Formats: sequence, structure tokens, C-alpha cells
Amino acid sequence: MALASMEDARRALADKFGYCSFRPGQEALVEAVLSGRDGLGVMPTGAGKSLVYQVPGVVAEGLTLVVSPLVSLMGDQVRSLLDAGVRGSYLNSTLSPSQQTTVLQRALAGAYDLMYVAPERLADPRFLEFAQQAAIPIVAVDEAHCVSQWGQDFRPSYLAIGDFIAALPTRPVVVALTATATARVRDDIERLLGLEDPFTLVTGFDRPNLHFGVERLEPKRKLRRIIAKAQADPLDSGIVYCSTRKDVERVHGELVAAGVAATRYHAGLSPQERRVNQEAFISDDAPVMVATNAFGMGIDKSNVRYVVHHNMPGSIEAYYQEAGRAGRDGEPSECLLLWSDGDISTCRFFIDQESGNEELSPEEAEVVRASRRRMLEAMVGYCYTTECLRSYILRYFGEEGAPACGDCANCDGDFRAIDVTDEARAVMRCVQELRGRYGKGVVMAVLRGDSDERVERFGLAGARCFGSLADGAPLDPREEGPEAPRREGTVPVARLREVIELLAASGYLDITEGRFPMVRFGPRYREAAEPGFSLAMKQTVKVAGGLGRRAAAPGGRVLGAGAFSAGDEALFEALRSLRKGIADAMGKPPYVVFSDATLRDMCARRPATDEEFLKVSGVGLTKLKRYGEDFMAAIRQFEEG
Ligand code: ADP
Ligand code: MG
Repeated sequence: MALASMEDARRALADKFGYCSFRPGQEALVEAVLSGRDGLGVMPTGAGKSLVYQVPGVVAEGLTLVVSPLVSLMGDQVRSLLDAGVRGSYLNSTLSPSQQTTVLQRALAGAYDLMYVAPERLADPRFLEFAQQAAIPIVAVDEAHCVSQWGQDFRPSYLAIGDFIAALPTRPVVVALTATATARVRDDIERLLGLEDPFTLVTGFDRPNLHFGVERLEPKRKLRRIIAKAQADPLDSGIVYCSTRKDVERVHGELVAAGVAATRYHAGLSPQERRVNQEAFISDDAPVMVATNAFGMGIDKSNVRYVVHHNMPGSIEAYYQEAGRAGRDGEPSECLLLWSDGDISTCRFFIDQESGNEELSPEEAEVVRASRRRMLEAMVGYCYTTECLRSYILRYFGEEGAPACGDCANCDGDFRAIDVTDEARAVMRCVQELRGRYGKGVVMAVLRGDSDERVERFGLAGARCFGSLADGAPLDPREEGPEAPRREGTVPVARLREVIELLAASGYLDITEGRFPMVRFGPRYREAAEPGFSLAMKQTVKVAGGLGRRAAAPGGRVLGAGAFSAGDEALFEALRSLRKGIADAMGKPPYVVFSDATLRDMCARRPATDEEFLKVSGVGLTKLKRYGEDFMAAIRQFEEG
């Protein structure tokens, strides 16, 4: 039994949401759901998962339930829907008991197409009674990875969803959505939610509008970089992620001192303050959010123009999820990762610490640690790689053969490659001779020929490789004669440490965990002994200045907005401030009125009639009625003077 036709769906997409076509993946999932088949959509953050259940919710007869873990955001999500003329509602603990009663009564009377509920609600007897009486054609489970213990955000309350669905008088179509791609999580979702032969769609993980950059900076310079970035476009919204609360406080303090309208978020703040700060960010009163990774799941603020990481996260999964919060509206946005040596040791430390408190057997704990270490190594590899950053990430997510993008900091050539093959060979020989029994410090001291307490204690001054990277050592250890080319200057500790990290990140070496990490051979150690082996290290050259977004990348892909002229830019500012005024007056977040993408399209089209205004991407009938006049007046005014 079909719930509705695709024709209905396309009409709702245009009339309510103002989009002329579905994005890749959306269409097939909507079609499956409307045909009565369960669905599982795995798409990256920003791909547009909400429409996959919102459109069917609008066109299917009855009430579509949306299970979402994000109680604090339901209000915003529903406001967005109402603003588009969609009959949405939500039910959670922020409503008073009498408000809840009203919502349920109205729902039974058929007043809503969609209702957002928190998973806890599904166990509430009153809600169960309601669900027995209501006609529920579709249950959508957003952030479905929360059902899996293997995911990053396990919520035990998600385990109740399967039973809830099974207990409904008529089984609804179930559609689950997530951005987590691993097969294990996907299996859990299917099994624990009881999906029946779901139509499964995994879209590519590329986010073409995101520009990726990596810069290695000492902690002090990180701060200056972040301030410069925030000041470059003070009205742009951005998120700065830090690994600790202390860093959040420090970075936030410095930004505010530099005159940036920033706010902050971490688990050490009171719930009240977190809510106020989040609200300030969402309403663009404080466009810059400095936060730990406690912030952001489900934040669907679409106009986040950049995400800067003040520290390296522990995995590519975590990085891509956090960075992916930039540019959900498809407009060019920036993802910049700043890192320093200390970040790597901090992550290693966390891996050792964390696994201690889990309720796992020692064997299980070791398996978890080993997988975390592999994830960390891949993250470190991202920091070091001189290849295309985008294709590095996509390959990590299993997209083989992803070509260089021509549009990330590495493809732009914002760095110099320094050949460190000689140093790398020396390190490998040293690790072999020391048989992987010593840590980085000892390996470095031996190579540099330092008179070090440990070197003496272990009697390593007599090792063959002792001093092989010291001033005057032969460049090729097989040539010992007086004419042999010799090294000028001892390799600095910082450089050497980097070579070792790079070898570890590339799998030539392995750094063990524990209180005394040791350097030993990694899985690829043989390759390092082959004649063709070479290793290059990356040094950033372009550090200061803007990040070149909106500028067309030479020879690269054309970014969403294309080249934006100065006139367009000025009009955009005018429309942005009109949007903020309207939003404030109505008590709505600005991006709910119109997304940045919609404002950009408006600048390009400069509509003067209702018909033209409707053509703007993101404008449906309700929005035309509500805002068309004001925005067209502003455009007219801009063009006249
Ligand atoms: P996700 O949940 O996958 O992270 P969202 O559902 O929050 O993504 O959507 C991200 C953005 O993409 C929103 O601003 C939404 O309006 C926009 N969007 C979604 N589908 C389309 C479409 N078919 N055409 C244009 N924009 C879209
Ligand atoms: Mg979403």
C-alpha cells in the first residue's frame, strides 16, 4: 500500500520547503518510504536527512512520529517547520503537563503531520495510550546510531524504540537516519530497531562545499590564528572546538578580549548557562561558539561558515562529524585543523586512561584500545599527509580511488614538502638495532649522539647507530671514508620527533601504549628498507590571511555560490541584517527565516515579483507570503541607491 505518490512528494518539496529537486539519496529513500518499505539512510552531516522523513510526513495520511535525542532542539526544528507552513509539533519535558495534554488532544484530532518526541517518551504510559489510538503511518528515527553501543553517542533509551514500534496496532513504515557509516553500527540499527528488509542507502561522504586545511602551530600561535580567522569576517558564524574545558575558557576569553562576539559551551557550565549560550549562538547574537565536543550533536544551524579545531581529535570519524557542522546549507565553508605535538600525546594518554574504567574484560579492553590507536594513527596521518586532504578522508571512509580535489589546502599547495628520507632511514635502522625496546626519547638521544642519562644507563653509547644523525656523521652509513658526504648540524629534536610520528602514522613504526610507550616496527617496516622508499614532511607556508573561500579556486571545482561580486556581497550583508531583525522580532533563529544559501540565491536572482521570489531556492509559498514583500523591498532599495 502506497502512502502517497512521488508527485505529491515533489509538490510538497517545492511548495513547503521551496526546493526544486531532491538531493542525491533523498529521492530514493522518500520513494521507498512512500511505497511502504522500511528505509535506512546513511548520509553525512548536512546531506539533508530531515527532508527524508519530513516530506513523507507532510504527504502521508496521519501523524508521522520523529524520534530524536535532541530535546533542546526540538523547539527550533518545529519552529522551522511551522515557518514553512508544515504542521509540526513536539512533545517533551520542556512543555508543561497541560501543554502536553493539549498537544496530544490536538494530535488525535488530526492537527499535525509531524510530531517530534524524545525516546524516553516512548515508555510513558500516557503516550503509549495515545499511540494506540492515533494513526501513525511512519516512525522516523533520527540519529539512529544512538541505538548502538559501538557508536559514539549510545543512548540506552533508544533500545526501547523497537518494542514501541512492535506494540503499535498497525505496523508503521520505519525509516532510520544516521551519519555514522560503520557496518557494525548499521547492523545494530537494523537489528535493534527491527527494520524489515529496509531499503538501505549510503551516499558518498564527500561534502564538496567544505574546504579543508591543516596547520601545525605552537599553542600560542593557534590562538592568534583563531582570532585572525574570527576577525576576518566578524559576522560569520563559526565553531571553535577545543579538547579541554580549560582551553575553551582560555580561547573564549582571548576572543572576547579581541572584540569577537563569542560564547562558550562545555560540560562544566550549568545547564542554564549552556542553554543561554547555545541560544545566543543559534540566534547569531554570538556568532562564534567555543566548545568542547560536548557541543554540537544535532545542532542544525545551517549557516556555520567555519569550524576550527584548536586541537587534533582522536579519530577521523570524530573530526569529520565535528567539521561537518560547517556549511550544512551547501555554501562554501571552511574546516581548519590546528595541531601541535602535544595533541598527539594527549590523545594517547586519553586512550590509556579511558579504557581503564570501562566494564570490559582485559581482552576486550585491549581490543578497544588497539582499535582506538589505529583510529588515532589515521588522524595523525591526516595531519601529516602532503596528499589531498579530502581524498584522504574519503579513502578512510572506504571510498576507494577518490581523486585529488584541487580545492583543499594541500591541493592549493599551501605547504612545502621537506624530504626526510635520510632521517627516516636512520630512525628505522636505530629501532631495528634497539629491537623496539626503548621509547622515543632514547631513540632520539641515540641518533643525535646526546650524552643522556638513559643512554648511559642502558649502555647505548656503543650502539652502531649512536650519533648517526649528529653533526658530521656520514649521510650514507655505508660510506665511512674521509671524503664521504657528511651531515651539517645535528638533526633538531623537534624535527626528529616529527619524523618518528610521521613514520608511525604511515605504519612503518608502531608506538606502543602504556606508561612507557616504546618505538618498534610497524606493519609496513619492510617497505622502508626498499630502494624506492622516500618520506616527505610538510611545512605550512601560507599561514596568515583569509582562507580564500568564495574565491573561485583556480582550476578547482566551482563552489556553490560561484564568484560573488562586491555588489552581491553588500546586498548579502543588507539581507542578512534584515533577516536578523525579522528573526529577533519573531523570536526565531535567523537561519529559520532563510538559510545563507537562500540569501545568496536571492542576491544572484534579485527577484522583483512573487513569481521570481518563488524561484529562489528555499522559498515556498508560506515563506513567500511571510517574507517576500520585506525582502523584495530591501532588494529594490539596494538597487536604487
Ligand atoms: P542532516 O540532518 O543530514 O545533517 P539537514 O536535514 O539538517 O541535514 O539539512 C541540511 C541543510 O540542507 C538544510 O539547510 C536543508 O534545508 C538543506 N537541504 C536539504 N535538502 C535540500 C534540497 N533537496 N535542496 C536544497 N537544500 C536542501
Ligand atoms: Mg539531522
